Amino acid sequence: MTAYKDLSRDELLELKSGLEARFTEIKAKGLKLDMSRGKPSAEQLNLSMEMMDVLNSGANLTCEDGVDCRNYGGLDGIAEAKQLLADMMEVPKDNVIIFGNSSLNVMYDTVARAMTHGVLGSTPWCKLDKVKFLCPVPGYDRHFGITEHFGIEMINIPMTPTGPDMDLVEKYVNEDPAVKGIWCVPKYSNPQGITYSDETVFRFANLKPAAEDFRIYWDNAYCVHHLYEDKQDYLIEILTECKKAGNPDMVYKFSSTSKISFPGSGIAALAASDANLKEIRSMMQVQTIGHDKVNQLRHVRFFKDVHGIVEHMKKHADILRPKFEAVIDIFEKELGGLEIGSWTKPLGGYFISFDSMDGCAKAIVAKAKEAGVVLTGAGATFPYGKDPHDSNIRIAPSYPTPEELSLATDIFVLSVKLVSIDKLLGNL
Ligand code: PMP
Repeated sequence: MTAYKDLSRDELLELKSGLEARFTEIKAKGLKLDMSRGKPSAEQLNLSMEMMDVLNSGANLTCEDGVDCRNYGGLDGIAEAKQLLADMMEVPKDNVIIFGNSSLNVMYDTVARAMTHGVLGSTPWCKLDKVKFLCPVPGYDRHFGITEHFGIEMINIPMTPTGPDMDLVEKYVNEDPAVKGIWCVPKYSNPQGITYSDETVFRFANLKPAAEDFRIYWDNAYCVHHLYEDKQDYLIEILTECKKAGNPDMVYKFSSTSKISFPGSGIAALAASDANLKEIRSMMQVQTIGHDKVNQLRHVRFFKDVHGIVEHMKKHADILRPKFEAVIDIFEKELGGLEIGSWTKPLGGYFISFDSMDGCAKAIVAKAKEAGVVLTGAGATFPYGKDPHDSNIRIAPSYPTPEELSLATDIFVLSVKLVSIDKLLGNL
């Protein structure tokens, strides 16, 4: 394969006309394919259908400790759900609160509480002139949406293969008291599929924040979402490390069963120190008498324990793995050696991250759309939707069927080639 940059103008033009002919042919098919969001496929959702059978009108809805799930009460969630999620999140049961169906909702509320009431006695953030958050990039658009919504200034921190650039993180956190938080997806990150190294986790735990109310927002959404049994990333548990480092209150850890059972109908959890949880409960009790305990019980009766979750995730992996491999195979075959893009090869999570040549991502997303392929908007992986290099595109392979996926990837690859040629010809 010759790199496109080494081709002459005439060679590029010739290549372009052949690719355009193929593109026109595919476009005429009027396809409608969606690679935009990390939604599980119907086949994956079917894996949890038995969860609908574990509770029926004849079921006993009393929990292990005698709580009647049908009634009010139990701010923290039922004991067996706390145990299940605590085991999944690798924290003690007493350091977990179970919430409703969405961890994003919990993250939003956590920022909202800090805005209106401060954190463990600190000045409410809304009374401060400036509040800043560090945002490892590329990252999860909905995290950035929360901080943007509250007018919090977001600072890009480049991701490296071992996690966020920790020299920069330490500099900002340890020197600037306006820096109050950092968004982290520490395992199989969204969108790159990167897992933070041991050293990265240790450096996080040993931060010396200038702001007493600085918190790490550790969104472990993909903690059990491996694609392979024999090749898995390992992440050190942050709550324990923070405690060991003398920073027990510095981290909020979030997770949910959204991509384990049903997105939108799962259960979410927050793990934190005793002091943090005490403060959270005091405000939560104003908000709600308790979350959906019936759904919590349904999850426990279905999964039984964390081993049940692990086994269940193997079934998800069997469906997802061929999809990830299909996309990566096409990338390697079609784009390998052309030097017009690079991509990640994650061992878990929901995404593949693609980097085009600078200044091409928006045009690639638009080109693919012309042929009926919807991708996550270019720029979405950066705060304010602004990718300074206009190069990152998040690929979500989970939702389409395998046939749709290979068609969509062919169209994506064709779009990358056509846009890159235009860039090299000076047409962009
Ligand atoms: N965090 C990350 C990193 C995600 O990718 C997602 C969903 N794609 C969420 C949180 C949303 O989780 P939930 O459904 O629990 O709100």
